[in-house]
Amino acid sequence: MSDTDDAEYAFDTLAVRAGQVRTGEQEQSEPIFLSSSFTFSSAAQAAARFAGDEPGNIYSRFSNPTVRTFQDRLAVMEGGECCVATASGMSAILATCMGLLNAGDHIVSSNGVFGTTVNLFSKILSRFGLETSFVPLTDYAAWEQAIRPETRMLYLETPSNPLTEVADMERMAALARAHDCLLVVDNCFCTPALQKPLEQGADIVIHSATKYLDGQGRCIGGAVVGDHQRVGEEVFAFLRTAGPTMSAFNAWVFLKGLETLTLRMRAHSENAMALADWLQHQPSVRQVNYPGLQSHPQHALASRQQTAYGGIISFEVDGGRAEAWRLIDAVRLISITANLGDLKTTITHPASTTHGRLSEQERRDYGIGENLIRLSVGIEDVADLQADLGPALARL
Ligand SMILES: *Cc1c(COP(=O)(O)O)cnc(C)c1O
Repeated sequence: MSDTDDAEYAFDTLAVRAGQVRTGEQEQSEPIFLSSSFTFSSAAQAAARFAGDEPGNIYSRFSNPTVRTFQDRLAVMEGGECCVATASGMSAILATCMGLLNAGDHIVSSNGVFGTTVNLFSKILSRFGLETSFVPLTDYAAWEQAIRPETRMLYLETPSNPLTEVADMERMAALARAHDCLLVVDNCFCTPALQKPLEQGADIVIHSATKYLDGQGRCIGGAVVGDHQRVGEEVFAFLRTAGPTMSAFNAWVFLKGLETLTLRMRAHSENAMALADWLQHQPSVRQVNYPGLQSHPQHALASRQQTAYGGIISFEVDGGRAEAWRLIDAVRLISITANLGDLKTTITHPASTTHGRLSEQERRDYGIGENLIRLSVGIEDVADLQADLGPALARL
């Protein structure tokens, strides 16, 4: 459907061109189709569209040209056959589970996933007969032990939030295949600019487009990428009926984000590497979690699996919640917000925000201490970030 022959071009070319279908106006930039419905040339055409005998737009809950351009571009960038866009990252996860699973099925998830994902699995999907077991991301024996005859899905994020643990996706894909399960990978932290889970054997990729795909902290959105049958038919069947679809305006913002994705991910990664290295040598800093550091337990795996290490760092300060909050309150440049993946650097206290709704025991199990700080490193000059954090750390 695209004006670009997708097989012919490299990733960075596809990021700015794939999925575009020019209208008769010959526009250079992709237009925003803010239209809730589409017209038919006749009653017979309307009937054919509704019956599925003729392709084409009906209503923007089902399809929209701007949303389709975003979907087609992200699908190509992830190396998938098909992508469906959703209203948020959470609705991408919900649509995947509702589209592909049935009551009585069982999920095994890493315990290091996004806090709201844990709540979706353990507090909401559990009420509809979907049970989830949580295991440590890199404990492969625990994954295997948790799998039951009714297990249908293995779910993980790599690198994990906020501890940046890295899972071996090929190993996880082999485990999923051996037990006839789907491997679902949330690729929020790396994006296809840094790693492509489908090429490592994953079946489905999840995105919170809110983060790096937008990259400038503007819109909420999500996406599911995979094959035609599972994503294009089964996940889409849930979406078009239940309705958590992406708006055309948001799709356009994310399209513009995809065009600069490689440049941004490279800049985020370079700044994060410099800052992580510097943090290791600061007073009051106990441990720095960043896959680019030699000291990271999965540094070698991250080097194989990713083309760079991304923009997320977490670190522990000496002390507890009081000291962590003191550091956060002392920064002047860095934004105090729970969002990540923005060009502006953000600082977060996971234990009282993103992971605040987990029980204390859950947080302890996952290794999220009261003294843990997460940074989503932006593209400011790294010297200014150091000047912001340095004096605050020295005073702790
Ligand atoms: C933010 C986030 C989500 C949820 O995405 P929303 O767009 O906020 O719904 C899911 N997974 C990860 C890793 C995230 O960071």
